[in-house]
Amino acid sequence: METNTYKCEYCKKKYVPKRRRVQKFCSNSCRVSFHRLKNLGEVKKTTELQTKKKEQENSKVKIDEISVSGVANSAIGSGIVEIAKNIFTPEENKPATKGDILKLASNLKRYHQIKNLPPNAMGHIPHFDLHTNNVIYLDITLTF
Ligand SMILES: [Zn+2]
Repeated sequence: METNTYKCEYCKKKYVPKRRRVQKFCSNSCRVSFHRLKNLGEVKKTTELQTKKKEQENSKVKIDEISVSGVANSAIGSGIVEIAKNIFTPEENKPATKGDILKLASNLKRYHQIKNLPPNAMGHIPHFDLHTNNVIYLDITLTF
C-alpha cells in the first residue's frame, strides 16, 4: 500500500492522492482555482504583449507618414535628419525606430529639382542643394 503523500499545487497541503501520478491537487476546488489563476496570468501577459506591439507599429507609421509627406521630396534643409532625431528622441533606443531613422536619412537626396524656376540660358535645371542651401543649375536631374 502507498503511504506517500502528494503536495497540493494550489494550497500546498499534503494529501494522499486517490489517483497516483495524475493528481496534482488535494481537491477539485483547488484544481479549478489553480487553473483559473493560471489562465488569468496568461491572459494578462498576452494583452501586455499586444499593447507593446501596437505601440511599435504606431511609431513606425508616424515615421513612414513623415517621409512620404514631404521630407524626401522637399527642400527643407540638411538639418532635417537632426530634426527627425529630435522628434523621435524618446523612441531612439528602440532598435526598430533607430533603423527607421537610418532609412529616412538614406532616403534624403542632396539635390532637389525646383519646379517653379525656369531652366537657365543653357537649359540647365535649377536644383536646391541641401548641403549648401544654394540654388545650383545642373544639366541633368540628379538622383542623389
Ligand atoms: Zn489543495
